[in-house]
Amino acid sequence: MKQLLHRSTRFLLAGVALLVLLISCATAPQAQTPSPTAQPAAVASPGGELSAYPAQLPPLPYEYGALAKAIDAETMKLHHDRHHASYVNNLNEALKPQSNLQNRSVEALLRDLNSLPEDIRTTVRNNGGGHLNHTIFWQLMSPNGGGQPTGEVAQAITQTFGSFDNFKKEFNEAGGDRFGSGWVWLVRNGQGQLQIVSTPNQDNPIMEGNFPIMGNDVWEHAYYLRYQNRRAEYLNNWWNVVNWQEVNRRFQLAAQQ
Ligand code: MN
Repeated sequence: MKQLLHRSTRFLLAGVALLVLLISCATAPQAQTPSPTAQPAAVASPGGELSAYPAQLPPLPYEYGALAKAIDAETMKLHHDRHHASYVNNLNEALKPQSNLQNRSVEALLRDLNSLPEDIRTTVRNNGGGHLNHTIFWQLMSPNGGGQPTGEVAQAITQTFGSFDNFKKEFNEAGGDRFGSGWVWLVRNGQGQLQIVSTPNQDNPIMEGNFPIMGNDVWEHAYYLRYQNRRAEYLNNWWNVVNWQEVNRRFQLAAQQ
């Protein structure tokens, strides 16, 4: 009898030990996979993400007439001093009463438009996008630009599009097909591939999770004084001023995403 009791006690103890073991396994902290703490790479350049408040008009990195191989001085002056300046001013006006949003970057605002109050959402989309797009755009052109792509991006373009000439053709077609106002871009998409996309108005590719590597402005204000309705001719000439060094820098930045 004593032996039987002893045996059942042992069973009981073994049962309790097993239960404790099971519970401890279930509640033990799971092995943590490293969380992505790195911030997304800045889209504008140089100097990190773009300040939304205050938003500031960056100076052109060259003279108004420096890109005459593609764009006349008068267009550059109006485009930078008036159009870009008005996006900057409108963004500041919209964010002036929004103290809780003022420390966000333009990129952060555009990535999360739905978190913004409805009455400023469209204004921030259009003018934050306009500020970001043009800040990138001025850097993507240079008086010493044009010619063949250089660096790693040249190889990636050939791999993806077959040849540089075919890439230019597809890029120009996408820019020509954009109805009304917008932009044509080379992006690195969410699958890590190069892709040509077009965005309406002042939308930026980051709104769709794509990283903008290079882009051309196909709003009429970008070309109308010299080219009138001949957008295709503007798109063709624009390759004469493309700053491949900057395109390659952005390509490498995109690859870090
Ligand atoms: Mn523009």
